[in-house]
Amino acid sequence: MTASDLEFQFGGRLSLDLTWTLRYRAVAPTDLLATPADLSSWITSSVAPVGGPLTASDLASAVELREAVYAGATSRIAGTAVGRDVRSTLNDWAARPAPFSSLGARTGTSLHLRPGAEVESALAAVALDAVELLSLDDGRLRLCEGPGCSLVFYDSSRPGTRRWCSTERCGNRVNTATYRRRRDGGHPNK
Ligand SMILES: [Zn+2]
Repeated sequence: MTASDLEFQFGGRLSLDLTWTLRYRAVAPTDLLATPADLSSWITSSVAPVGGPLTASDLASAVELREAVYAGATSRIAGTAVGRDVRSTLNDWAARPAPFSSLGARTGTSLHLRPGAEVESALAAVALDAVELLSLDDGRLRLCEGPGCSLVFYDSSRPGTRRWCSTERCGNRVNTATYRRRRDGGHPNK
């Protein structure tokens, strides 16, 4: 499977959305942010429209931030301390100028990246979300139980019993496998 076979999908929190651009990280890493143009598409679809062409350095910054978010999230899930380097990356980006909103004519607002610092402000928004998310202690930040998936999600459902990054991606895959094993006489938990 190549990056072009996959589309961006979203984990429900901006910072987790960024970590979802690296799929199957434990078994067959597939990076949807392979080029600066991929990052441009991601920022436009996840944060706000980005104008000019992005650079390799923008991409490197985004990947560094993504890995810090993922490392921080897995530490929180494991109940261990978030490392100093990870915190420093997240806190540094969170301190940069964030995007700003403008008022619409009737209802709603539009979000805009900072002119002249578009990528910086997009990544600041990601980092601010990560700082808030990783400060929570409600047990709703989880690793998907899908085999080989490794995506992290935040369970905002009312019952709080979600186990998959998404039912479509991993829930159905696991349920179908369990059904097949049952039908074929195997034990469902093997
Ligand atoms: Zn999954």
